[in-house]
Amino acid sequence: MSSAATLSPAFATLTFEQKLDRLAEVAVRIGLGLKPGQELVLTASTEALPLVRLITEHAYKAGAKLVTTFYADDATTLARYQNAPDDAFDYAPAWYYDAIAAAFKSGAARMAIAGANPALLAKQDPNKVSRANVAVSKAYKPAMELITRHEINWTIVAGATPAWAALVFPDDAPEAALSKLWDAIFFCTRITSDDPVAAWKQHGENLKKRVDFLNNKRFHALRFHTADGSTDLTVGLADQHLWAGGGTTAGNGIYCQPNMPTEECFTTPHKDRVNGVVTASKPLSHQGTLIENIRCTFKDGKIVEATATAGEAALNKLISTDEGARKLGEVALVPHNSPIAQSGILFWSTLFDENAASHIALGQAYSTCLIGGEKMSNEELATLGANESLIHVDWMIGGPTMNVDGLAADGTADPLMRNGDWV
Ligand code: ZN
Ligand code: ZN
Repeated sequence: MSSAATLSPAFATLTFEQKLDRLAEVAVRIGLGLKPGQELVLTASTEALPLVRLITEHAYKAGAKLVTTFYADDATTLARYQNAPDDAFDYAPAWYYDAIAAAFKSGAARMAIAGANPALLAKQDPNKVSRANVAVSKAYKPAMELITRHEINWTIVAGATPAWAALVFPDDAPEAALSKLWDAIFFCTRITSDDPVAAWKQHGENLKKRVDFLNNKRFHALRFHTADGSTDLTVGLADQHLWAGGGTTAGNGIYCQPNMPTEECFTTPHKDRVNGVVTASKPLSHQGTLIENIRCTFKDGKIVEATATAGEAALNKLISTDEGARKLGEVALVPHNSPIAQSGILFWSTLFDENAASHIALGQAYSTCLIGGEKMSNEELATLGANESLIHVDWMIGGPTMNVDGLAADGTADPLMRNGDWV
């Protein structure tokens, strides 16, 4: 079973506008599976306007009742950090997030266009950044729960921006960097074959086969280990854990692909059964700070020691967000032959980087990764081992040297991945 993406010669002959149009169409038809009569709430950077317009056009062609876009702008975000009074950073507009939750409850689909400058807040006070994020997480929680519980169809797609491109391709002139980033987005989002809709269906089926295999195994734990010993981590899986990957049928009955790209098979770890040491295989770009060479020791589920060669303060701030921020909410397997890994590019964006390597996430677990989890209370979820937190931050641990075993309850090991790829 191959995970390779194809780059057809015909795709290269398309104009940029045509390529962008194809991305918009696939995002609406495959990413969202938007249904006639459905409303769409879109969030995007002002720099994504051309893509927003094409997505909006395809959404109306698919029968959307109304498309509403909320824009963010890097310069105005920065203006707040540089000029607003200090006590304003504990505030988030509940009225705005309540309105988004109300839209979701009344049947709206959600799409986000990612692409803001990952280093935008790098020079700002990390304390302010963290307080502002906590305030937003709290205000956003009711809407976010509808997303994490997959009550509605949603997706995230990326749009290149000059600042992001400059970070990914620092040695190129601005225009070349931007064009390289767009090419990488088109390739990794699997829209470069002759029939991207069919390619996505095939890719979804491949992921589904892998997910079914893992679900049938009912592993008790996974063990990640590298020959050099930099990682030897046993991640217990939650009782009644369920592997997911590729498309999902949301609570509203609509089949969607929640991330574009998506290459991972993921599930819920047991919040109290993670032990060992783990070293990140890629830097983590978190809210504008680049955290490099993360190394963590876990004991009974909790991080007891965390170090990084850069951004250690931001890392410690992050894991101190709340009780659950030191524990895992997700574990995901991604082969080294995914198009994102094959591109060799560090995107400084979780949407891409998490699909380049096996990873773990600190914080909130997905209730949909537990059998019957969507209908459980937070207390029931916690009893099964699902973690709860205001954060959910993925970081990459996989790569060409990673080995993964599935462990049965008696400790018997079943090799799943060797040197980064499926056995
Ligand atoms: Zn993931
Ligand atoms: Zn995640």
